Amino acid sequence: MQMASIDEAVSFIREFISREHQVEEAIWREPDHVRLSQRIEELNRDFHEPPMHSTLSRGPVDAAWLSANAEAQLGQLQPRVLFRVDGWEHPQLGDIHTADVSSTLKGDTFLFARYFIASRDPGLRLVALYHVCSECEGTGELNGRVCPECRGTGWNRRGGVEISDPGTHREERLFQEPTVE
Ligand SMILES: [Zn+2]
Repeated sequence: MQMASIDEAVSFIREFISREHQVEEAIWREPDHVRLSQRIEELNRDFHEPPMHSTLSRGPVDAAWLSANAEAQLGQLQPRVLFRVDGWEHPQLGDIHTADVSSTLKGDTFLFARYFIASRDPGLRLVALYHVCSECEGTGELNGRVCPECRGTGWNRRGGVEISDPGTHREERLFQEPTVE
């Protein structure tokens, strides 16, 4: 497939963030297990390339329990905040993009995750997910030494393929600065 522009990558990740938020709300709104599973499958089909898949899941639940807890849980959700999108030239994957985002916890404006986006035949797809290392808070250092958890990278893989280095930086789109403690 032809290389996607950074604007296409921005549109793609914005659409994903919106759809992911809808499905995360459905986890608390949809009592039917089969229907919820279909929503998650559609999210995977439209945005992820295996082995990468959505982090959202839920087993069968009791409808009464769900409705008793839904309101409080829905009040704690937000669509991820998009901080920036970067374009890279990767030696094996070719032209890829990364999207840096917050968590889905309402009010969170810290850098939490980085999605890797590649051009595929049906369109753009998420191929990997990394989280900021919680041990060293992304610094790669712990007590003056290389962080043993992330081996100094500041990131830990949470899904998809291993991408130790995104490659040569080409361009970026900046939207919002993440909060720094
Ligand atoms: Zn670390």
